[in-house]
Amino acid sequence: MENPKKYIDFHMHTKYSDGMESPELLAMNVKLSGVDLAAKTDHDTIEGYWDFKAAADKLGLATIPGIEFSDKDYHILGLGFNPKDYDFWKLTERSKYYQRLTSEQRVHMLKRHGIPITMEKLDSFFPDSRLGKHNIYRTLYHDEECRSWIEQNLPDATPDDVFEYTLRKSGIAGTVEHYYDLERHVIIDGIHKVGGLAIVAHLPKQAKSMKELDELKEAGVDGFEVQPNFYGTNFGAVNYPDIESYAKRHDMFITYGSDYHGSIMPRSLLGRGMNAMSPELEERLLGSTYGNDSETKEECLV
Ligand SMILES: [Zn+2]
Ligand SMILES: [Zn+2]
Repeated sequence: MENPKKYIDFHMHTKYSDGMESPELLAMNVKLSGVDLAAKTDHDTIEGYWDFKAAADKLGLATIPGIEFSDKDYHILGLGFNPKDYDFWKLTERSKYYQRLTSEQRVHMLKRHGIPITMEKLDSFFPDSRLGKHNIYRTLYHDEECRSWIEQNLPDATPDDVFEYTLRKSGIAGTVEHYYDLERHVIIDGIHKVGGLAIVAHLPKQAKSMKELDELKEAGVDGFEVQPNFYGTNFGAVNYPDIESYAKRHDMFITYGSDYHGSIMPRSLLGRGMNAMSPELEERLLGSTYGNDSETKEECLV
C-alpha cells in the first residue's frame, strides 16, 4: 500500500516574535487542525522551539526546527536545520538586534508625530519577543496613552486605517523599513551551514514577476512557500501553478505554510487541503536527523 500523505504547515509564529500564542498552545492548535508535520517559524529567533517540540511530542505531532528571516525584499524561511549550532544562534541574535534597531527608528518617527509610544512600552508588553512592526502596532492599542492619542487625533480611523497611517509603507514610520536587514546571501549561507532548507516565504505576496524566481534560484534558495488556503491560487503577479511547475523544472522544493499568528489574526492553520508534502521533500527533511531528539536549549547553549 502506498504511504499515506503527510500534511504540513511550515509557517507559524508564537509570542517569541509577533504571534499571540505560547508554543504549547500553538502545538495543541496545530494538532487539532489535523496537520502531521509542523514548523514554528518565529522571526529571527528559535526561542520556544524546544517548548514547541516537547508539547508536540506529547501530542504525537511531528515537528522540524524553523525560523523566518528578512532581507530587504523577501522573507526567507529556514527549515529542518540543526537548532543547536552556536554560530547559527549568534546569527539569529544579530538579526533580532537589527530588527530592534529598525523598531527603534519606527518608534522615533511615531514619537516625532506626537504618538506617545516608547521602546520601554514595547518591552513591557512583549518581554520575550523579537520586536517588529506588528508589536508596535499592538502597543498602539494596548497602551492607554497611545489609545487616547488615536481617539483624539484619528477619531474615525479603523484599526487598519491606523496601521496604514503609522506603519504601512506609505505611513509615518513606513520609510525606515528594512534599513538594517541581513543580506540575502548571509541568510541563505547561514541556513545551509546548519543543514537547513532556505525557502522563500509567501512568495506570491512578495514577487512581482516570474523573473524574480530566477534571481532567487541564482541566490541559492532551495524552494518556495505557497499558502493555498489563505490567498487562493491566484494572488498578485505570480500564481501557484506557475511557481509549482517552475520548482519542478528546477528540482526545487515547494512548502506550504499558513503564516498563522494566533486565532485573533486573519490567517488560519492549514489543516488538510492542498498542503500534502511531496515525496522529495519528505525524503530530504525526514532523512535529516535535526529536531529528532529532546535535548533542551540549556543543554545546547552551554
Ligand atoms: Zn513573512
Ligand atoms: Zn511569517
